[in-house]
Amino acid sequence: MIVMKFGGSSLANGERIRHIVELVKPELTRKPVLVVSALGDTTDQLLEAAAAALERGTVSIERIMELHKNTIRELNIDMTTIMPLLDELHSLLVGISLIKELTGRTKDYLVSFGERLSARIVAAYGTAVGIKALAMDAWDGGLVSDSHFTAAELVPESWDSIPKKLIPLIDEGVLPVLTGFIAKDCTGAITTLGRGGSDLSATMIAAACTAEEVQIWKDVDGILTADPRIVPEARPVEAVTYEEAAELAYFGAQVLHPRAMQPCMKTKTPVWIKNSYNPQAPGTRIMAALEKPRPILGITSRNQVTLVDIVSTRMLGQPGFLAELFADFARYGISVDMVATSEVSVSVSMDSVYDLEPLKKDLSRIADVEIKTGRAMVTIIGEVNRSAEILYRAFGVCAGLGIPVQMVSLGASKVNISFIVNDTQSADVVKGLHAHFLDDFLQG
Ligand code: ASP
Ligand code: MG
Repeated sequence: MIVMKFGGSSLANGERIRHIVELVKPELTRKPVLVVSALGDTTDQLLEAAAAALERGTVSIERIMELHKNTIRELNIDMTTIMPLLDELHSLLVGISLIKELTGRTKDYLVSFGERLSARIVAAYGTAVGIKALAMDAWDGGLVSDSHFTAAELVPESWDSIPKKLIPLIDEGVLPVLTGFIAKDCTGAITTLGRGGSDLSATMIAAACTAEEVQIWKDVDGILTADPRIVPEARPVEAVTYEEAAELAYFGAQVLHPRAMQPCMKTKTPVWIKNSYNPQAPGTRIMAALEKPRPILGITSRNQVTLVDIVSTRMLGQPGFLAELFADFARYGISVDMVATSEVSVSVSMDSVYDLEPLKKDLSRIADVEIKTGRAMVTIIGEVNRSAEILYRAFGVCAGLGIPVQMVSLGASKVNISFIVNDTQSADVVKGLHAHFLDDFLQG
């Protein structure tokens, strides 16, 4: 069997859904399982509707209704497939508007409607064109998660429960159309796997069912050497390893969910990133090892990064100083990205989403603390064996642009070199690096 996952932009309207069903048809002999995201921007619209209910007490699902009803009309399928869900969604928003409370648990229940609607529409259209399609909610397909609402993890029992539910159906010739992104915890509450989580649903299903491959259909020609909004010349990459794909996802390339590679890495299931708007393009293949390793895969950047500089003479020869320091970060729930230390100072970077004042106050007892906002992290994903050469040349590019590098980290993983610059300068650095490394390093 294979798994085919379609993201929101591949399901933006009736015409796109027709198109993806055309992509599925020739694969039917390979026994596919479909995993679908919510149509278009439905997840964002659901979150906006929740905010409106919470803050203004207004219940408005007009845009969501319109998109889904238009799609159904375009596909010429029966509206009754989704009416009960739309009613339930409406009641839930009324509830939020009255109680004026939106917990993580309620939020997950709310956004789950996007994928649940989408799976029903795609399956109904499949049935209408003569395919034995069956819409399934993730929990009916065996996806069980922990109770970490809005960012749940699939629990190990899913490895057994997924094939148990899906394989018999596939063997009967059914095309299961599963909701991506969502699951249920052991108490039966609906959870979500974090934004973009349908990728993880797809790779988990594929790995658990020992699928031949997973196809992740997006609206770009695969994994690119840089963000095309910053570098228009960015090119698709032919092949990457699971580790590289995970690094790219984590360090700012918004192609894949950061945890999506984990299941397939375990089973070595090949993953393809394909473009549903350009299915002829070869796409990117993600696999365990490359035949022909290349020094540099790509360049990413992440803005809205904060740098915390901690200077203390107490560090000198003091065992346990770093433990004390990081215990403070942990206490405030701050997830740290890069770390660089010298004998008397530690620099730490993180996303600019935390209130750092309480931490600063605490740390000030043991050190001088300076918080620098408005930074960006630029990451080069490549061969660590060539790090000296890559660093030399990368810093040459920064020097040539007159842009100071404020912190460097090489150790975080085998494949990345990250450094911090001002966020107003990150696009120039990424463009400069891409142009510099393009000919001799990047392969696409
Ligand atoms: N619909 C969800 C989102 O937009 C999940 C996904 O697309 O993978 O984040
Ligand atoms: Mg989406």
